[in-house]
Amino acid sequence: MAEPFQTVYGRGLLAEFKTFVHRPYLVVTMEDLWSHFAAEFDDGAVGPMFVSTLERSELEQLVAALPDCESVIGLGGGQALDVAKYVAWKRRLPLFQVPTAMSVNAAWGHRAAVRFEGVVRYVGFAVPEAVYVDYDVVQSAPIELNRSGVGDVLCYWTAHWDWKMAAQAGRVEGRWPYNADLVAEARLALDRVIEHADDIHAVSDRGIRALSESLRWGGAAFHNAGWNPRHIEGAEHFFFYNLEYITGKHFLHGQPVTLGVLLMSHLQDNQPDAIREIADRIGVAYLPEDMGVTWDDVEEALRTLKAFAERAGLWYSVANERPITESWIAGVGDWLRA
Ligand SMILES: [Zn+2]
Repeated sequence: MAEPFQTVYGRGLLAEFKTFVHRPYLVVTMEDLWSHFAAEFDDGAVGPMFVSTLERSELEQLVAALPDCESVIGLGGGQALDVAKYVAWKRRLPLFQVPTAMSVNAAWGHRAAVRFEGVVRYVGFAVPEAVYVDYDVVQSAPIELNRSGVGDVLCYWTAHWDWKMAAQAGRVEGRWPYNADLVAEARLALDRVIEHADDIHAVSDRGIRALSESLRWGGAAFHNAGWNPRHIEGAEHFFFYNLEYITGKHFLHGQPVTLGVLLMSHLQDNQPDAIREIADRIGVAYLPEDMGVTWDDVEEALRTLKAFAERAGLWYSVANERPITESWIAGVGDWLRA
């Protein structure tokens, strides 16, 4: 079993970088974060590189124009960490990652999410020397960022149903036969966040550590299972991709993914009340109005889900197996509003 990335927890971690990273070092971050953290670095820093684009052609130009440096520090939410990965991969430099919120698993994944003419693709391959989770840094981030990160763990609930159903229906992909060991491994990560739901809600040290450990496992899981996504992603993500496609909006990933988990668990008849109770205890905001879209957008994303999944060549899921009818859409809307 391949290992997830080495991860270190503590406090005052940022101030240590200048004592051990290869100099000069490049900090890749967001402009609005830099004023909070600039004092932690010294004159060995070049840049910083502020993330202004994820478009691959623009990143190529930016990377070509960067000053000489010997290591890369990614500091931020998902985007800064993805660009840091991209720079480290292109320049073949040692990488150190510092997630400033528990909003996504980008710190722990091998590939960088970049855009090709607006369409997300995962490129490159970067394994950091370590990921540093500083409790004080994470606790200073907006609370909805830190709670939303569970979306990428709660999704195992619906993904596992999809995989088992596809296998039983004879529709599973030849390269991804059902594997109970992978499902059990993912279930450990899911059970960890369920067990720590109240700690994650509070963004306590224990909650940060529990959620980080599950995101850590999940970030590397696609690669570590031989590029198999079946145990970590299913129709709940397809719903999110379609909602993003229909609305053209930028989302806090874990919020629409959690909405997708609730909707698809209902369609699956897979204990929807139980997973909803967990999402509510953690306090992840999953209603359309929490993320700036309408119920009409959500209904449209459901109506067109099967066609979207087929067009995109996504794997066989409840979206293919069970018809999404107007009466089911009305019923699930009532359930979510209740
Ligand atoms: Zn996700």
